[in-house]
Amino acid sequence: MPELPEVETIRRDLAHAVVGRAITAVEWLDARIVRGDVEGAELAARMVGRQGAAVARRGKFLVWRFTSGEGLLLHLGMSGRLTVGPRSDEAWPRHTHLVVALSSGAVVRLVDPRRFGRVAWLAAPAAGPGGMGPEPLSPRFTAESLGRILAGRRAPIKAVLLDQRRVAGLGNIYVDEALFRARLHPARPAGSLGAREVGALHRAIRRVLRDALADRGTTFMDYRDAHGQRGEHAAHLGVYGRAGQPCRRCGAPIVRVVVAARGTHLCARCQPAGAHGGSDTEVSGRRG
Ligand SMILES: [Zn+2]
Repeated sequence: MPELPEVETIRRDLAHAVVGRAITAVEWLDARIVRGDVEGAELAARMVGRQGAAVARRGKFLVWRFTSGEGLLLHLGMSGRLTVGPRSDEAWPRHTHLVVALSSGAVVRLVDPRRFGRVAWLAAPAAGPGGMGPEPLSPRFTAESLGRILAGRRAPIKAVLLDQRRVAGLGNIYVDEALFRARLHPARPAGSLGAREVGALHRAIRRVLRDALADRGTTFMDYRDAHGQRGEHAAHLGVYGRAGQPCRRCGAPIVRVVVAARGTHLCARCQPAGAHGGSDTEVSGRRG
C-alpha cells in the first residue's frame, strides 16, 4: 500500500499537473469506488468545469482542491496508481477506475489492479478526512507528543504506529524500518518505552520518511509515481522485504515474524525482544 512518502510524491506530481487547470471532462468513473453522499454520476458532473487550486495530503489521503472551495478526496487503496500523462489513443489499462481530462490536454487516471482505491466529494475540503493522528513530518509531531501517544498502551508498538488514529501516514514498510533504525522490537508494548527510546523512535520515523521522500518512495510491486516511474527507496531498506539477508548493521539474518497480524521484518540481534535490551542509542540513517 502506498504510505506517506509515496502519497506525498504523487501529491507533488499531481499538484504540478492540476493546479490552475480546469477539468474539461470526466471520461470514466467506476461507481464502485465512490464513497460518501454524492454518487458517481453526480460526482462526475460536479467535477466538470472545476479549476484546480491545490493538492493536499492528509495521512494516506489526497485532496484535490478546487477554486470553488470544494474538493475530491482520493485514497489509493492497496495498489492504486494515480498517473498524469498525455492523452493516448491506446485502450485504457484494465482496472481503470477514473479518467479525468484537463484543460492542459493532460489526462489524470486512477488504475488499481488489485483492490479499489476510493474517491469522495468534499463539500468543504478544508476539513479533509477526520479522526487522524498527527502528521509525522509536521512540527506538531514531537517526541513528547509521540510519548503521549504510546504511554499506557499495552498493544505492540507496531500496532499503535499502524493505527491512523494515532499517527497518520505510516504503514507496514516504514513502521518496520523506523523500529529497526530505533533498535526497538515491534512486539514490545507501546507503553514500555523509556523516554530515550521514544526520542530515538521519533527521530527514526522522521528520518526514514524523509529518506524515502528523497527517493520518491519505495516500489516493491505496484507503486508508481504520477509519471509511472518506480520509487528508488527499496534498495536502501534495512529490514522490510529482506528476510534471510544479513542485517546491514550486524550481519545477523533478518527474520520475518507476525506482529499485529502483519508480516514484520526485524533483526533479532539489533532489536531484542526483551524490554530495554541493548544500548539505547539511535541508529542513524544512511544519510547520517
Ligand atoms: Zn542487526
